[in-house]
Amino acid sequence: METREIFRNFPLFLEIAFYIIAFASIAVFVYGFYRRYKKYRKGRDAERFNHLMARFSKAAAIMAKNSTIFKRDKYAGFAHWLIFWGFIALLIGTTIVALDHDLLRFMNIHILRGNFYLVFSLVLDIFGILFIIGLIMMMLRRSSKPEQLDYTRADKSKTIDRSAYSTDDNIFMWLLLLIALSGFIIEGARIAADRPAWELWSPVGVGIANLIDMVGLNGSTDTIHIYIWWFHAVLVMFFIAYIPFSKGMHMLVDYANLMFKDEMAAIKLPGVSEERQKVSMGYQKIEDFTWKELLDFDACTKCGRCHVACPAQNAGTPLSPRDLILDLRTYVNDSSIGVAEWFEQKNTNGKEQKVIAGGAISKETLWSCTTCMACIEACPVGVEHLTSIVNLRRTMVDDGDMEDMLMDTLANIGDYGNSFGQSERMRAKWTKDLDFKIKDVRKEEAEFLWFVGDYASYDARIQGLSRKVATIFKKMGVDYGILYESERNSGNDVRRVGEEGLYEMLVEDNIAAFEDASFKEIFTTDPHSYNTIKNEYPDFGGNYPIYHYTGLLLKLFKEGKLKFNKKLDYKITYHDPCYLGRYNGEVDAPRQLLEAMGVTLVDMPRCKENSFCCGAGGGRIWMDDSKMEIRPSEIRIEEALNIGGGVDHFIVACPKDYAMFTDAVKTSGNEGKMQVKDIIELVDEAMG
Ligand code: SF4
Ligand code: SF4
Repeated sequence: METREIFRNFPLFLEIAFYIIAFASIAVFVYGFYRRYKKYRKGRDAERFNHLMARFSKAAAIMAKNSTIFKRDKYAGFAHWLIFWGFIALLIGTTIVALDHDLLRFMNIHILRGNFYLVFSLVLDIFGILFIIGLIMMMLRRSSKPEQLDYTRADKSKTIDRSAYSTDDNIFMWLLLLIALSGFIIEGARIAADRPAWELWSPVGVGIANLIDMVGLNGSTDTIHIYIWWFHAVLVMFFIAYIPFSKGMHMLVDYANLMFKDEMAAIKLPGVSEERQKVSMGYQKIEDFTWKELLDFDACTKCGRCHVACPAQNAGTPLSPRDLILDLRTYVNDSSIGVAEWFEQKNTNGKEQKVIAGGAISKETLWSCTTCMACIEACPVGVEHLTSIVNLRRTMVDDGDMEDMLMDTLANIGDYGNSFGQSERMRAKWTKDLDFKIKDVRKEEAEFLWFVGDYASYDARIQGLSRKVATIFKKMGVDYGILYESERNSGNDVRRVGEEGLYEMLVEDNIAAFEDASFKEIFTTDPHSYNTIKNEYPDFGGNYPIYHYTGLLLKLFKEGKLKFNKKLDYKITYHDPCYLGRYNGEVDAPRQLLEAMGVTLVDMPRCKENSFCCGAGGGRIWMDDSKMEIRPSEIRIEEALNIGGGVDHFIVACPKDYAMFTDAVKTSGNEGKMQVKDIIELVDEAMG
């Protein structure tokens, strides 16, 4: 009968020894897992148990395809896919062996026999080889030292030793590789010793058996078998015990993290309940984090994708989203579990961090974030960096702990409703130079309310563009109006700075103005306002259909109301604003519009959801950026200039982008090489 003996040539005491070691390792695993579970229990509720089946299947589909790892890194994705499915197959195989030997045989049921056993042997051989190939591919990748796997901290701290991280990576991969290789050697030694008639169903084992014969070790096959058997068993048992204390934990946590991910994370920030406001506006201790955030810290595999995508890190600030998550992990472990993980970064200056914002995470780090969301988009395991960042900022804002320029801007917004500190009555001054009057939706009905936003209203560099938008929409016969002095800053960036109280006030004021006005839909040129009105105002009772002007222009073009009479013979590139492309997935409308004008559009390497931030978001435009090694907007201009053959225009669709990039062209010394233009300027030209 085709089968194999599990404890081949084992005396009883060795069998007993094996079970003692196995139970000990499972006990360590359970204890380690329980510690983690206790830690997550300290967190606040995260309200993630809705639509459980949908969550479960979505995460399962991601895991099965390894789709988030394949994204933008096919090599790593493929290697991980091989490891993942190889591991699953070997795990199922081992579980079948355990069931057959430790349970079913006592019921006189034997599944590992006959044809099933033959297919079982073949399948495990194939998946075992794929598993080894995947591991070798990953090891080769690491040996090429890619930028994202360099654990050097963005803040260049010399007092934090991260060598344990690399040790953990090596132990993890070598353990898996040695377990797989030793498993094959056991099989080879058994086949070399017994030469069963069905050996060809274990092709890898036969190969190794032949090798054993070739090197003349066929007299020692039983010895090789038993020694390697024990080597394999001890490694497996160590691996089981090691999982909850190491990188191995990602195998358990990451599925849960993906399953409980909030698809609206950062897009719609959580508010601060009245109950919580009595304690703190932000986060000060472990218990302030939600359990999902605590899970995030453990889910991080240190893959570094967020680190390389982060504009703040690229600009040389101390912020790296990877470092932030790992620092929070260290802080939470040190102050909740008591015993650090086996492979933790160590603070060599021995200072214990008591506070989080300004202690475990420096203030400068927290203020460096542009809230561009590139980290969340890049993370393959569903980490939601931004909610932690904003909640830690809330603590600093609550303490008045921010730079003067930001404080003045917030005061201006509080006093005048705009970030420029100008009177409300000046908000619509830009309309004075128009040869027609824009409807006042507070007094007369219009189909569209144009939410103009602060920059398009007050910034002298952008007011001309606002007049172009006004004229073009008028020419197309669009019935629109504005709120004049009743419009307030939309609050999108105020909220992301961490000033939740002011944000709520702005939302209430704007919603009151919307309610007093007569319109059906809103449009705006400002992606930041677009985001908060679309996604966050509904939580405050403000449900309004809203367009970004590129979406509305495309709609009008399709309806035949917008006509292009002149083909534009330009080669251009288009910058996707974070709050439009990444936050709201609107990447097609601007491109379709541009293509309709006849231009040749060449995308930069980082485009659409993977766009690179201009550096203005999250209130950064109200903060000093003079200490940056290079501004994100300057990095972006260089990226555009590197497009083969160059481009005539760098097209934007956001007032802040226009301001940031026109400055960056000058400060990077690239004046005359390329012109920054708003999409409305091309529309104007193409209309003839
Ligand atoms: S939101 Fe952007 S700037 Fe902030 S940490 Fe993430 S990638 Fe960096
Ligand atoms: S947070 Fe996500 S993207 Fe960043 S290093 Fe960790 S796993 Fe990778």
